[in-house]
Amino acid sequence: MRLEEQVLEKLSLYKDSWPMLKNNLRIRERREKIISEVSSELLREVRRIKEESIENLEQNIERVRKALEERGAELKIAKDGAEASRMVLEVCKQYGVRLVVKSKSLTTEEIELNKVLESENIEVIETDLGERIVQLAGQKPSHILGPAFHMTRDEVAEIFTKYYGRPIPPDPQQIVLEVRKEFREKYQRAGMAITGANIIIAENGAMVLVTNEGNDRLALAFAPIHIVIAGVEKIVSSTRDVLKILKILPRNATGQRLSSYVSFHLPNMTAYPRGARLSPRRTIYILIDNGRMRARQDQEIKEILYCIRCASCLQVCPPYNMVGGHVFGYIYSGPMGIPWTMIAHGLEKTYFSQLCNTCGLCREACPLDINLPYINSIVKERYGKRFGCPPLNKSLKRYESLITLASRAPNLSNKLLDSNFARKVMEKFIGIDSRRPLPRLSEKNLGEIFTELGLPEKGNILLYTDSLIYYMYPDWAVKAAKILSSLGYRVIIPSLKSCGMPLIQYGFMDDARRLAGHNVEYLYSLIEQGYIVVSLEPTTQECLTNYYPKLLASEKSKVVAENSYGFFEFLKKIGWKEVTKVLKSLQGVYVTYHLPCHSRARDGSIVVKEFLEALGAKVYFKRIGCCGLAGTWGMKKDGHGHDISIEIGRYLVREYEKLGGEFIVTECSICLLQFQHLSNLPSRHPLQLVQLTSIK
Ligand code: SF4
Ligand code: SF4
Repeated sequence: MRLEEQVLEKLSLYKDSWPMLKNNLRIRERREKIISEVSSELLREVRRIKEESIENLEQNIERVRKALEERGAELKIAKDGAEASRMVLEVCKQYGVRLVVKSKSLTTEEIELNKVLESENIEVIETDLGERIVQLAGQKPSHILGPAFHMTRDEVAEIFTKYYGRPIPPDPQQIVLEVRKEFREKYQRAGMAITGANIIIAENGAMVLVTNEGNDRLALAFAPIHIVIAGVEKIVSSTRDVLKILKILPRNATGQRLSSYVSFHLPNMTAYPRGARLSPRRTIYILIDNGRMRARQDQEIKEILYCIRCASCLQVCPPYNMVGGHVFGYIYSGPMGIPWTMIAHGLEKTYFSQLCNTCGLCREACPLDINLPYINSIVKERYGKRFGCPPLNKSLKRYESLITLASRAPNLSNKLLDSNFARKVMEKFIGIDSRRPLPRLSEKNLGEIFTELGLPEKGNILLYTDSLIYYMYPDWAVKAAKILSSLGYRVIIPSLKSCGMPLIQYGFMDDARRLAGHNVEYLYSLIEQGYIVVSLEPTTQECLTNYYPKLLASEKSKVVAENSYGFFEFLKKIGWKEVTKVLKSLQGVYVTYHLPCHSRARDGSIVVKEFLEALGAKVYFKRIGCCGLAGTWGMKKDGHGHDISIEIGRYLVREYEKLGGEFIVTECSICLLQFQHLSNLPSRHPLQLVQLTSIK
């Protein structure tokens, strides 16, 4: 089935129930209550631990080997999944194993081990409840931590009713009791336990498992043979490192300070075999390369190897939450699933990366600060170069030239936007869905109504607006310039328009690099003359501070990033006390504020909320996520553009309308388009709400 069809199928199946989103929101709520307990120093320290572990991987593998051999255990390195499966099969044959119990087995999903064992008539029991459910349903996990997140309790009950051949009620407790009865017997009979490992410790060869079910302990209590299957990147140097990782892993994964069970298993510990005699358990570690060693040399994606599989990125990813991991994933799913699929299963399996709208929420959520949106664009670029990119992306990357062309005759262009026929032609030849309302061009663009304003008492500002404001909403930029000039700044606008986000979003990284280079040269020369760069669009600011330094890796791009601010961030830098002197009060105004994905003040504050509150407005705010439009991504006629974008926005708007504001307010012109289309509430840019007390 094509990606578009898969998306449409899931959207209609999940309509109004949003099971993935609701499960993930529950975890996010728990996580948000305790995440502030983790300091940024600790996060940086854990990142450093993982960086060092990957840097010293060869030495660490040898340390694990030595530690295992000292305890009579064994280490094998498998170059790929097939080799790892063969190794497991050989051990099963050698010891006559007919029943295997598994726990924590995402990596065995990666290598599709069950298929290999079952083809040799070896019975495999997944003992993690979610894994067991998807195993019986004949499915793959839809989430890296909650494999059955996409199912309702009725569906789960139906699966067990069929399996046990008697009615099982849709009651989670009852289901657990039934499964437990079966598992106890299997644990005692199993000839082998196979587990994954959250972490492996180089200094003593121990492996660490973090679970909420404790099933690994039961599996290992009885099994005479234990095979650990894990990626080579799971090794860290010391137990001390593990304790630091454990402070952030459960908090981010499930919103718990500590999971119910954290087990440190040393190799060849005693097992309780059938009968009364205790005997040492035979332990074999199979560490899998499967593309990881090559990824380690790949500077553009290397940092994904630091991933601790906490799934925070899945919790926040808007398109993933709409369709789940069977569509937004292969075996690894969600944001981290894009690079991990490329590494472990090959570029050809990564077409689902088209579902990533480059909102950036995954990076914000990632405790290791892995730049997932950038890495995912690199995967899209590589896919496009090898297999060809979707034709729609090619046409939409020219959006800037299309707007410029349309702006030559704004009245005529606006009339065409009202014509169904013209919209159908646009849909066919450009790819913009005819159901998507588009903004109207202003009669005069920003360059025609504004060149400069104010005196440089406090400094010179270059106000960078991007295309939408430049051509559609120039009056917002003029108001922004008036506010800045009232605060003592001279304001000019640049000749630059596009920041290039669509190029990055669709993986046209060579084009993006060229544009970034041009923009950085221009901005750098003005910064050298003492200008401060202030961006009116959050996405422009995200390009200047995040993407350009990644794309160019140059000193100049760093200087531009350090000397540019979002408009409201800059107002905060001036000080709310000063700013409120030049603006009229918003006392008595009730607004619901939407935080755009790319609005990131460098101090982490929600600056527009602060701005509105400083002016006296009552601000309702709930952090849910992306509006779903994400530039031209949500305008594309594909199901994996327009339809999924609408579904993301629908949930958000439904929640916002319950909050109590008279308007939805947001500083991103794209988000406003989505709200104008989907909400019964009026939507406003903050600059549309404020009035200057006097104009300098
Ligand atoms: S950038 Fe946004 S859409 Fe893309 S993977 Fe990350 S969270 Fe998902
Ligand atoms: S990429 Fe980051 S957020 Fe996502 S699973 Fe890995 S560590 Fe967690």
